[in-house]
Formats: sequence, C-alpha cells, structure tokens
Amino acid sequence: MSDLLIKNARFKNGKVQDILILKKVIVEIGNVSEITDIPTIDAKGYFVTAPFVDSHFHLDATLSYGIPRVNKSGTLLEGINLWGELKPNLTADALKERARKLCQWAIARGTLAIRSHVDISDPSLLAVEAMLDIQNEYRPWLDLQLVAFPQDGLIRANSKDNLNNALALGVEVVGGIPHFERTMDDGAESIKYLCELAAKKGLQVDMHCDESDDPMSRHIEVLTKETIRLGLQGRVAGSHLTSMHSMDNYYVSKLLPLMTEARISVIANPLINITLQGRHDTYPKRRGLTRIPEQILAGLTVAFGHDCVMDPWYPLGSHDMLDVAHMALHVAQMTGITQMQECFNAVTENPARILGLEGYGLEKGCKGDLLVLQCMDDVEALRLRPARLYVIRDGSILSSTQEVVYDLDLSGHKSSTDFIFSRT
Ligand SMILES: [Zn+2]
Repeated sequence: MSDLLIKNARFKNGKVQDILILKKVIVEIGNVSEITDIPTIDAKGYFVTAPFVDSHFHLDATLSYGIPRVNKSGTLLEGINLWGELKPNLTADALKERARKLCQWAIARGTLAIRSHVDISDPSLLAVEAMLDIQNEYRPWLDLQLVAFPQDGLIRANSKDNLNNALALGVEVVGGIPHFERTMDDGAESIKYLCELAAKKGLQVDMHCDESDDPMSRHIEVLTKETIRLGLQGRVAGSHLTSMHSMDNYYVSKLLPLMTEARISVIANPLINITLQGRHDTYPKRRGLTRIPEQILAGLTVAFGHDCVMDPWYPLGSHDMLDVAHMALHVAQMTGITQMQECFNAVTENPARILGLEGYGLEKGCKGDLLVLQCMDDVEALRLRPARLYVIRDGSILSSTQEVVYDLDLSGHKSSTDFIFSRT
C-alpha cells in the first residue's frame, strides 16, 4: 500500500495537522477530510518526525558480542584484536542473519537509513558481499549505504586492492583509518590516496579519523587540506574526531575555520566515544567526545552515529538513535533549548544531508516516510525516548505499537501516567 492519511499529527512548530500520502509521496499537509478507500490512522496529537538516520554503523560486526569471547578490558584496541580473532570464523550466513536482526531492530526504532562501514581487510570480501546482499534484500524498507573500511589499515595491512575491489562490487563510499596506520606520515599518505581515489571515481569519503585521545593526532588537518586541493568540498565526512577533545584550544581555533572552508561533515559517536576514550586517564578522566557545540557554531553539519550494538567494542544497545542523541546531549552539555533541538537534528535531518537522501523531510513533495512518537515535541523525544507508535515508509506502516501507559494503584488511589510533561 502506498497511500495513507495520518490524522492529527503534531509538528515541530506545535501545529496539529493531517498528512496525506499518495503514491508514496506527501501531497498534502493541513486539514484533510477522510477519504474512502485510503487507509487512515489517528496520530492523536502525538509528535511526527521524518525518520531517524544513522550515519555511522558497523553492520558486519553487530550482534557478535561474546563470539569467540567478550572484550575484557573494554578498550578500542582489544576490540580491534577481538574482531581479528572473530574474522576467520565468519560465514556469510551468520553475518547476514545478525545484520537482518539489527535491521529489524533499527526499523522498529524508526531508523530507515543507515551508513555502515564494512571491513574490506579480508581479500575474499566475504563481509562486503554479505552486506551488499542485505542492502538489496532490505532496499524496500531501509536505505543502507556502505563504506569501504580498511579496519586493519590501508597501508599497514596493504589493503588497497581489497578496497578497490569492494568499490568495484558496488560499495559507494571511500573509508579510511589514518590514526591506525603505523606512523603519522603513513596516515597522511593513506588520506591522500583515498581522497584521490574518491575524486577520480566521483565518490564520497567518510573516514574514521583521529579516534584517540592524542592531541597531536591531527589527521583531520590533512583530510581538510586534501578535500580543498581535490575540490571535494561537501563530500567528505570525518567520523569520531575524538582527538579534537584533547587538542590545544589555540590550534582548534585555526582548525575549525579550515574545516568550514572544506565543508567537512562531522559524525560523532557519543555512546562509543564516552565508553572508549579517556581509558589511559586517571582522574579527572576526559570525555573524549569531539567539540560538537563549537562545530555547530562554526557552521559544520554535525551528525551522530550509533557505531556499535553488541559487538567487540560495545556490549549494549538496541539500535535506538534517541539513546545516541540523549548521550550526546549530556556529554557535550547541550542543555540549552536550541542545543537540544540540534541534538535531535543530528539524528534526523543532518545525517540525511550527509548521506544525500533524496526526498527526505516532512514537507509537501517529500517521500512518505515518517514516524509518530508518543511525545509532544523533539526535546520530549530526547527526554523520554518514547514508543515509536508508527514507522511509515512509502506510505506503508512498517512497524507499530500501542501507547505505553502505566497504571498505578497507591493504596486504592488509581491513576495512570505516560510521563508526558504537558499536552499543549
Ligand atoms: Zn566506526
């Protein structure tokens, strides 16, 4: 079904309106009278939003927690080693089974687009082929964009051929991991190679960049320079950028305008950054999240990714982008009203722009993709991480659930609550 009428949906501006989707496209927002033959749902005045977008994930590693063992130290490096132990035993069927389960979790939580890095270090490209299959299989319900990711290092593991082969198979974005190469010089060389490759092939770039607490890890500077030199402005994303947390303030005051000039997109991964960074610190411990408020002020597009769910690096998660934004808001101390709204944008419209999703948004002419959340607005969505009452794609309901209400009985005094603060 590709037609749907949604009655009484509350928009960000507080207005309650109806949304008419015909042939998978939003054709009307306003007062729409019920039409026979078109399925109708009542949003009951609850908040409506365009779907969540996860701009950074690892679908090939997800839900592998405990295989073959758990990460005892909880560190990034033990995670990378553990992934190395797991890789020889991977099968395409197991990879796909776990990826399917994750995609179903994501859809139920209202995420309908994911950019996933896929490890190309294995010459057989088993994981790449499995993820391309999942991309095809889930295309009706979820936009899955794949990044060719040299987890073991492009130069360090001599994986240029694997990366080129992955792109030839249909992987769309060029990845990298310059801080994991053996030296700063190798890191710079990898960035130059990968950006030139992206320029030649007309592709986007999204690198794991400076995922450390080392204030001298400045690969973002080289990435910025190469972006400008090759005319890649607006097509390059820096994922993590955690070393920016620890950099000298004067240096950052020079770096931010360079990033703005290159129109670098920033993808922070708050759940993972707060758990993996600062591990070498005694007290006080650094937070290790990149400088989000300052990057937004500098005019950069900032998005948040989930990065991991139950894998060698992170033992928790259910793929909920509201968990991600909730964590970012706290760690970056973004409790100002517009800052909280920016945190919501960082899991919706900003990553949609980074991924280049066409027809994304809640306007006439946009695709008929939207969510009804059991709350009143975007900030309340962050506070409650509420039930996703309806998840709609192309005018079809992909997932739905009942309103969550708790019934209390306090010595005979009966009442109920849904935690909603005010119904304006
Ligand atoms: Zn990652």
